[in-house]
Amino acid sequence: MDKELGQRGTETVCEVCSVELDRLSEVELLTDRDLALLRQPRRRINANLPIRMDDGGIEVFPSFRIQYNSARGPTKGGIRYHPGVDEEEVDELAFLMALKCAVVDIPFGGAKGGVQVDPDDLSVGELERLSRAYVAEYEDVIGPETDIPAPDVNTGPEIMAWMMDEYEQQTGEHTPGVITGKPLELGGSKGRTSATSHGGAVVLDAFAETRGWEPTNLDVAIQGFGNVGSYLALFLHERGYNVVAVSNAQGGIHDPDGLHIPTIFDDYADEDDLFVTGEELSNADLLTLDVDVLIPAAIEDQITTDNMADIRADSILEMANGPTTTDADAYLADRGIPIIPDILANAGGVTTSYFEWVQNSSNEYWSKSMVQDKLEEQMRAAFEDLYEVKQAGEGRSWRQAAYIRAVDAVLDAEEFRGNISR
Ligand code: NAD
Repeated sequence: MDKELGQRGTETVCEVCSVELDRLSEVELLTDRDLALLRQPRRRINANLPIRMDDGGIEVFPSFRIQYNSARGPTKGGIRYHPGVDEEEVDELAFLMALKCAVVDIPFGGAKGGVQVDPDDLSVGELERLSRAYVAEYEDVIGPETDIPAPDVNTGPEIMAWMMDEYEQQTGEHTPGVITGKPLELGGSKGRTSATSHGGAVVLDAFAETRGWEPTNLDVAIQGFGNVGSYLALFLHERGYNVVAVSNAQGGIHDPDGLHIPTIFDDYADEDDLFVTGEELSNADLLTLDVDVLIPAAIEDQITTDNMADIRADSILEMANGPTTTDADAYLADRGIPIIPDILANAGGVTTSYFEWVQNSSNEYWSKSMVQDKLEEQMRAAFEDLYEVKQAGEGRSWRQAAYIRAVDAVLDAEEFRGNISR
């Protein structure tokens, strides 16, 4: 007999997730019970964290940890520090993490965390105290077999190191697997820095093959030259793609004959600015270039109702999270422009986080080439699974295929646990 949903708590639904699920139920049979199970997270926890500031005063920072679904394994997801973080945003990101882990078939559920703070306003000491306070507060709900945080916006290896150390102080046990994205010295994985971009390059290769496209004939434009965009540009250049434009928040550069990415990458590392080798162009113009592949790799909501009619790319690879708004996504699908969705395209990062966790659990550490080989294998397999799901439904978009595959995997796990009958 089905367990009553009420036993899972009295949470309210995640509104944004509900909208996505309603849209999905138009193309995939989902029962009311399936929908009810997926519309709300399993567990929402929030806490106000009082922090001693350098001037002796106390400031209180609202914080969140949301564990969306744990049917497939311990929940997994980053912690973001941003003044705009709220429960609704963390809900949606936790939901997307659950789907992302299912799409690449790693044995994790989805979670996300956040603190409402502008880290630029904090000293290093205040940042450390805040990060330790977060872990002290949530210590009883995170752990290598329950919920494994990671870096996200404005958090990185240094913060992960403080967090791991705090967890170990609280529990008295050496537990590197409680958190991923750590420095190598504390059990981080080789290959993690460039993993998201590496995964994206593997997915693009596989997608190009399905179209019969040769990388050397493909013009690519990449918005964003941060961690993801810069390494992706490098990987694609090495694979023979013609990267014709890149940009950062200030603007971009364009050369129809192809930019020499290794030079730009090295200069950027030195000067933190794009060295102009071609003509300058705005981000708005980059997004509407006539290229074979457009790659938004910066921030969310870049392809919208304002510019969707001007998009001239033949395909889009979403490396940023949520770069295409829902309306623009539907419009571009009608125009027959394939969009490889974020939950597959940028899943190389969480996949390598999984590898980090495996290495921490086994205490056996892998070479960079071994990590990269395993990543290629996992991303290829995920792409092929998705391709099959896409081809199985007339007119199915890549995003629909990804959602169908992910939701099915989560619901199958729930069924085996006896939480639903399908
Ligand atoms: P980052 O901060 O290193 O780089 C962001 C880049 O975007 C920078 O070049 C910045 O100048 C540019 N940018 C910022 N605002 C912009 C704007 N308004 N217009 C154009 N460019 C702008 O971040 P990142 O780690 O490279 O992440 C990029 C995206 O990929 C984000 O959406 C992130 O959530 C997503 N993502 C990152 C990872 C990862 O492993 N780093 C994993 C999955 C998804």
